[in-house]
Amino acid sequence: MDDKCISVVVPAYNEEEVIRQCYKALTDVMKCTNYTYELLFVNDGSKDRTISILDELARQDAHVRIVNFARNFGHQAAVTAGINQARGDCVVIIDADLQDPPEVIHDMVEKWEEGYEVVYGKRRKRKGETLFKLASASLFYRFLQRMSDTHIPRDTGDFRLIDHKVAHVFNRLTERNKFIRGIISWIGFNQTYVEYDRNERAAGQTKYPLRKMIAFASDGIFSFSSKPLKLITRMGLLTVVIAFCVLVYSLSAKLLHLPEVERGWTSIMTAITLFSGVQMLSLGIMGEYIARIYDESKNRPQYIIKETIHYPQEELHIQE
Ligand code: UDP
Ligand code: MG
Repeated sequence: MDDKCISVVVPAYNEEEVIRQCYKALTDVMKCTNYTYELLFVNDGSKDRTISILDELARQDAHVRIVNFARNFGHQAAVTAGINQARGDCVVIIDADLQDPPEVIHDMVEKWEEGYEVVYGKRRKRKGETLFKLASASLFYRFLQRMSDTHIPRDTGDFRLIDHKVAHVFNRLTERNKFIRGIISWIGFNQTYVEYDRNERAAGQTKYPLRKMIAFASDGIFSFSSKPLKLITRMGLLTVVIAFCVLVYSLSAKLLHLPEVERGWTSIMTAITLFSGVQMLSLGIMGEYIARIYDESKNRPQYIIKETIHYPQEELHIQE
């Protein structure tokens, strides 16, 4: 047995229906590798029995460690905490719902042994997702690609393996990383991918309603691109040009006594609504950046850990 260790980070929010199954599937896979491992579950303020089930698993198996959040801080915060707390030579990030098949970890570890420092899972197919989710995800990744200066691979999620060197760099970033797949691409190192088919959720409901999806997508865009700001400048230039043309037209209409001047209601309404729309949009875009600057400047921690739970084997013997 190699004395290297693999940390598997599993964010979990209200996953009582799958968490046991997830533990079992991960254990089966990890037992087959030549490495020691730890299963690091991050309980993101679940309101159901997730934490008590995890606690029970931790008592039976010393591979299980739990990071218990003080409240729900979100998926990305949970993954961040997992990477921060991981002690292994590499860290695997996987969802609790078994949509990402744990067997793929074998392929990832193989690539890691070949010397790659980041191995991300690329989704070949996505089973059991609504047409809306598929379409919006595909649109989002293509849009992000065009907007962002960092190359963020398409059709990948947070299911990936990162070497401890990458985790170390990640841990030292002071930015409040809300878009982990982007940050890891940005960090660099030798990156590669393995392809896999994404399954349906093993049980339970998605924890990403539309509202969270939109917030997540705007984090991806606004933290990885300043192009929206440049877009404002372009829109401004365009409106100045249009305004100039309208100005020339209305002055000449006035001077030449064209009847259009009397019937100008439509054009005025159009101009007012169009340009106030553009202004509001521009303010909104600027607001997105200001809100992010404000967030960063407060310097609050990204998450708060209530407790970490781990029962080493010795303690178990005493209890038995
Ligand atoms: N998750 C979390 N905190 C949240 C929402 C989700 O830790 O606020 C976890 C969830 O338990 C799961 C993973 O993030 O392990 C992905 O969530 P989900 O499967 O609901 O997202 P989807 O696959 O539908 O995009
Ligand atoms: Mg899922």
